[in-house]
Amino acid sequence: MFTRLAAYEGRSATTGGTGKDPVNEPMIRHWCEAMGDTSAAYRGPDAVAPPTMLQAWTMGGLAGHTEHRSAAYDELLGLLDDHGYTSVVATDCEQEYLRPLRPGDRITFDTVIEGVSTRKTTKLGTGYFVTTRTDVHADAEPAATHRFRILKYRPDQGNRPKWSDHPDRPAQRRPAEEHPLRPRPVVNRDNVGFWEGVAAHRLLIQRCTDCGALRLPWLPGCNACGGAEWDTVEASGAGTVFSHVVMHHPPFPAFAPDGEGGPYAVALVELAEGVRIVSNVVGVHHDQVRVGMTVQLEFLVTDPELELPVFRVALGADSDVDHRASEEG
Ligand code: ZN
Repeated sequence: MFTRLAAYEGRSATTGGTGKDPVNEPMIRHWCEAMGDTSAAYRGPDAVAPPTMLQAWTMGGLAGHTEHRSAAYDELLGLLDDHGYTSVVATDCEQEYLRPLRPGDRITFDTVIEGVSTRKTTKLGTGYFVTTRTDVHADAEPAATHRFRILKYRPDQGNRPKWSDHPDRPAQRRPAEEHPLRPRPVVNRDNVGFWEGVAAHRLLIQRCTDCGALRLPWLPGCNACGGAEWDTVEASGAGTVFSHVVMHHPPFPAFAPDGEGGPYAVALVELAEGVRIVSNVVGVHHDQVRVGMTVQLEFLVTDPELELPVFRVALGADSDVDHRASEEG
């Protein structure tokens, strides 16, 4: 298998691609507004484009760059699909800037399949890393290099608990085949303390020990002062619905109380401590969630391996709410 994959190394994925638009001030301004970047270098008569905006000039838009794309890259991905490596995740990108891009520059680019790894086992599953290198030219001068790496992998279902196999499964419960499990949270060294708190039925908020600012979700540093040191405070559990949406599409049975993927409410809850958390509101029908509702933290067992902090509408807090329409879980 690896020999067949390695044969694609060095083959062209895109030849003579052209940017949809020349480098231009409106796109630079929109990007700076979206990113909150107020640098003077990106304004005025001598403006350059933000270097990290590189891909904005080469992306194909919804239609893609089909006219310049070679078959090699699609063949490589198809070969991996055929062998069961059907999932894909972008893992990292590296960019090198050779000269600034300025309004008026016409962008061209060539992309080559730079490398295919040997088979690797990752937490997501077993698969192959595929790296492409795009050489970007501005008015025919080398301007930048963009390396993009994906993992094509076979999803690892082996570690996922199957409710249908669980000895405690009540007979009336829907089997897992009909009611899929919620995706597992991504637990890493920056947020492991949050999930340890959840396991102990405590909702822990990070507190910067330099300036006292509270933060949720957990981050490695303080957005207010840049401090790296922190401790935690436990949320009282009191909160209000700050904002919410009702999800209709795509249907996602794991999140829907009816197990059919029907509509469900996702809320941004403002805790009494002042920070906000994205969660579910339980205890009311999805179309009865309202901004300003008083809610109280509780922990929902979604399956034998997962508990999540959710927020229950306080009884009596909102007299127009029909609490009977409230089977969650
Ligand atoms: Zn701070």
